[in-house]
Amino acid sequence: MDIHEYQAKEILAGFGVPVPRGGLAYSPEQAGYRARELGGDAWVVKAQIHSGGRGEAGGVKLCRSEEEVRDYAASLFGKSLVTKQTGAAGKDVYRVWVEGASDIRQELYLGFVLDRKTERIMIVASGHGGMEIEDLAEEDPESLRRMVIDPAVGLAEYQARELAFQLGLSGGQIAQMVGILRACYRAYRDLDAMMVEINPLVITGTGELVALDAKMSFDTNALYRRPDVAALRDPSQEDARESVAADNGLAYVGLDGDIGCIINGAGLAMATMDMIKLAGGEPANFLDIGGGASPERVCTAFRTVLSDPNVSVVLVNIFAGINRCDWIAEGVIKAYRELGLSLPVVVRLAGTNVEAGRKLLNASGLPIVAADTLAEAADAAVAARPDTPKAA
Ligand code: GDP
Ligand code: MN
Repeated sequence: MDIHEYQAKEILAGFGVPVPRGGLAYSPEQAGYRARELGGDAWVVKAQIHSGGRGEAGGVKLCRSEEEVRDYAASLFGKSLVTKQTGAAGKDVYRVWVEGASDIRQELYLGFVLDRKTERIMIVASGHGGMEIEDLAEEDPESLRRMVIDPAVGLAEYQARELAFQLGLSGGQIAQMVGILRACYRAYRDLDAMMVEINPLVITGTGELVALDAKMSFDTNALYRRPDVAALRDPSQEDARESVAADNGLAYVGLDGDIGCIINGAGLAMATMDMIKLAGGEPANFLDIGGGASPERVCTAFRTVLSDPNVSVVLVNIFAGINRCDWIAEGVIKAYRELGLSLPVVVRLAGTNVEAGRKLLNASGLPIVAADTLAEAADAAVAARPDTPKAA
């Protein structure tokens, strides 16, 4: 789960990371008021959306008067901001952050990510920040420093100092950097984060290190024990299809194709997507309904998949261990009746109570295409798409 920049700054500040003073606004008037409240003669107004690349996309502006703050904020509210990370639809701006402008002497990059190879938290840092990490890796790979943290020890002081040296810092900035690194690490670990990124971390004209931008993302599986973090969720920034699924406890990822998928188990879901592609189709989504799915849950899964207007056929692929094929069949029939389905549905059932499940589907009289194997199911789903040319 992602959160907004202002939320990440507040969290990190709580752990001891220096951030500029600022205030949140929900309207242009409030933005102007925030500027007056902050004082000074220059402010940065920043669109709050779940995306980086706002600077390049016109979502960040240095303003020199209260009026300019108000006018620029007015130009952001209610608009969709398209960055190179959002996709063509962009993300809607409902909040802006106004902060006192900083005098930037140097921009650094600092990121904490989960390194799956070492199964540890890894710091990625560069003395040349401001750019996105992908661009940095391409244009200035020499500047990238990586450091893996041993979970049993945590981020040791000597490690943090070493990294600060590698980034070319000296004097009092080393101590500041050590403090920032340790604070980010604690925030990451204590809040079950998946990513903490400060880009840019700047050195100001007076030599202070300040986090000018902040991004955090969290492990959704741990949100149950982090209610304060869970409360920061902003559905306006999420793919609407994924919000519906999250509300129903389904693991769902929206994709670009038109074959809706309802599958049990992430591994089978991946295999099914591969088979769909091999058969010449494109999956519209990844949906894992999990084990022990009741007919109601199957129905909810259908509702979720069908909330995507691109879906033209649904493929149900269940290998029932904990699940029961007769329940799945009941769910499919229930979905047909309650949701008034008119699009083709391909069902492949295997495992527990498979005979009972097949019987139910046959007896239902509904135009369900039954398949025995995964390959057959994928072929049938592709063939059932309205724009697949029919064999003569
Ligand atoms: P992003 O593009 O979404 O990552 O948004 P950032 O918060 O990183 O802002 C983009 C860029 O705006 C930064 O890289 C800075 O160069 C610039 N910027 C942000 N805040 C300030 C500020 O206080 N003063 C100045 N001069 N530039 C700023
Ligand atoms: Mn940034």
